Amino acid sequence: MTRIWNFSAGPATLPEAALREAQAELLDWHGAGASIMEMSHRGKCFSEVLETAKADLRALLAIPENYRVLFLQGGATLQFSAVPMNLLAGRCADYVVTGAWSKKAWQEAARIEKAVGKVRLAATTEAEGQPADGFCSFPRADEMRLDPKAAYLHVCTNETIHGVEVRDDALLPEGATVVADMSSHILSRPVDIWRYGLIYAGAQKNIGPSGMTLVIVREDLLGQADANVTPRLLDYQAQTENDSMLNTPCTFAIYMAGLVFKWLKKEGGLVRMAEINLEKAARVYETIEESGGFYRNPVEEACRSRMNIPFTLPTPELEAEFVRESESRGFMGLKGHKSVGGIRASLYNAMPREGVEALVEFMREFAARRSKRN
Ligand code: PMP
Repeated sequence: MTRIWNFSAGPATLPEAALREAQAELLDWHGAGASIMEMSHRGKCFSEVLETAKADLRALLAIPENYRVLFLQGGATLQFSAVPMNLLAGRCADYVVTGAWSKKAWQEAARIEKAVGKVRLAATTEAEGQPADGFCSFPRADEMRLDPKAAYLHVCTNETIHGVEVRDDALLPEGATVVADMSSHILSRPVDIWRYGLIYAGAQKNIGPSGMTLVIVREDLLGQADANVTPRLLDYQAQTENDSMLNTPCTFAIYMAGLVFKWLKKEGGLVRMAEINLEKAARVYETIEESGGFYRNPVEEACRSRMNIPFTLPTPELEAEFVRESESRGFMGLKGHKSVGGIRASLYNAMPREGVEALVEFMREFAARRSKRN
């Protein structure tokens, strides 16, 4: 068996230790004589899995007591609707657009605003008429036109496609109830949970397989969902009362997430992860910088994502060649998102340093060869 270096943005590479553990107990979970995915979600075995996963996540992220943890379904995308349905309550909300994902969240909220309240665009970094030049930074708090009465401020703290990250929670405006889409960098570093009203994340990058969506919500924000428009499955209050089990939860995805949390604890937790992630990302960014313009990343230095690194080559033809060759050399998932083209390397927690070293070596060698030819 050969595992290749998988730089996909998500579903993404998972820790080999977690996959091996799942493999070892796939047919018979802890002597129960059945796989965890064949068991009732209300039984003793799965309850243990769920409770352990929740406790480990709380410990990893140091989640304060007054926050609830939910393991839901529908992806991060369904949270684009669930957030306004639960939190707007006829008021207004501020949205900051810094890339494709926060734009989608804003558009989805705006689509249902008549039913739930008012949606404002508080800031956007999209360059008008030149989308390729936009989305390269995260605005300072004083660059946002915030409504002091807004029910919440929505941000995406890591734009998976554009590679723009909020690397320091303290950069977010104080006083606002911040709702953050952390899908692509949750668990990559410690987070000041108390600075946020609500955090959500699709699982398929740093948590586990797709199918599970994590929601961390401050208790005082519960119980505001408009019953006329909010399906009960999307009502955070109803979900907390039922321990994320209003209906059958995605048991196998939750189980896998639990194995990933266990691996993270063993590896030294999020402080250690942050150190490693910083080193890994620095290796790729320095390779881009040292390429003499062969590779380019347009994002402002302070906002460069440690998880998703998009870059371009001098021509689309060279990019296609880079992708083709990378695949024949045992790399996977380096093609950029179709909306922006180019290349993207996603360096989630489970990507080992050796994988990054192999990528950097390939990038250097490719640039040396192709720069000469052009
Ligand atoms: N937000 C971000 C930041 C993402 O990266 C993604 C998926 N790539 C989504 C939202 C949508 O997630 P899902 O496909 O789980 O709905």
